[in-house]
Amino acid sequence: MTTLLIAEHDHAILKDSTNKALTAASQLGAEVHVLVAGGGEGTKAAAEAASMLAGVTKVLVADDALYAHDLAEPLAALLVALAPNYDALVAPATSRFKNVMPRVAALLDVMQVSEIIKVIAPDTYERPIYAGNAIQTVKSKDAKKVITVRTSTFAAAPGEGGSAAIESVAAAGDPAVSSFVGEEVAKSDRPELTSAKIIVSGGRAMQSRENFTKYIEPLADKLGAGVGASRAAVDAGYAPNDWQVGQTGKVVAPELYVAIGISGAIQHLAGMKDSKVIVAINKDEDAPIFQVADYGLVADLYQAVPELTEALGKL
Ligand code: FAD
Repeated sequence: MTTLLIAEHDHAILKDSTNKALTAASQLGAEVHVLVAGGGEGTKAAAEAASMLAGVTKVLVADDALYAHDLAEPLAALLVALAPNYDALVAPATSRFKNVMPRVAALLDVMQVSEIIKVIAPDTYERPIYAGNAIQTVKSKDAKKVITVRTSTFAAAPGEGGSAAIESVAAAGDPAVSSFVGEEVAKSDRPELTSAKIIVSGGRAMQSRENFTKYIEPLADKLGAGVGASRAAVDAGYAPNDWQVGQTGKVVAPELYVAIGISGAIQHLAGMKDSKVIVAINKDEDAPIFQVADYGLVADLYQAVPELTEALGKL
């Protein structure tokens, strides 16, 4: 039995989601190899970081222009080519792998087990369904498992202590059904949402992009927090798409989640209700967010948030 974990990285730095998915992959009980697929100079650095992960026995590196821009189709073809050597293919349930892994499962003609939150046995897992309102236990009879991991529920494996051998693997053929056109990458000094210990999120009540900048971001910066948003705020153009928290956004479980002007719709709760401490600021005392909040403030955010930011500045 061997498990192949596909690494999430930004073509230089290995992402924390890889360490978390490694914890789940290790619980399958088999030897774990890590695949680092990329193109260019940073791939080597990411592979070296992967080789230091505790519990990894081998790192495969596919360094080829085909994998330089995270196109799903060539990466899926590579995984299918490597699949005969593995019993399970595991990846974190990030946007990138939500695009790749279903293709792999379809090409291998097996089912994908999505967003597992617990490994019960090598073939049996728990995963949330109905926007997190029920937990399903899935037993897979497929000889080859294709699994994505909800990283917010697994602790990160240590990034040091390992010394796995690094081995190059040849690129698989290009399915030639997609090509890279361009990308716009938002640069931010704030922590990434999925690894942030504190998140400050704004909802529809923010009314504009400018108000996010004026009210939410200064509070986030005082707390060293990542910035999130409800889908209503994203759809209205007040916040970028990759800030969305929820069923169709990111699933987060920080130490502290501050929801500002967010009603607490079930689809939003699906993405943040496992946060350790939830604080809500809302002017409607009957807003559903208060049912999950540990601390609630019934107030107008345009008054309360600047006061809070100022008070934090005095600490
Ligand atoms: P609203 O529901 O409009 O709430 C705004 C809140 O702000 C209200 O509670 C109001 O009392 C409060 N408020 C207004 N003014 C002030 C003020 N001055 N001070 C303080 N409080 C104020 N939503 C997500 O967030 N993430 C998802 O991933 C997601 N996925 C979805 C998937 C599907 C299939 C569907 C159908 C919906 C999904 N939604 C998702 C949308 C979800 O149902 C809600 O519409 C959305 O979360 C509402 O966003 P909101 O709380 O910002 O807005």
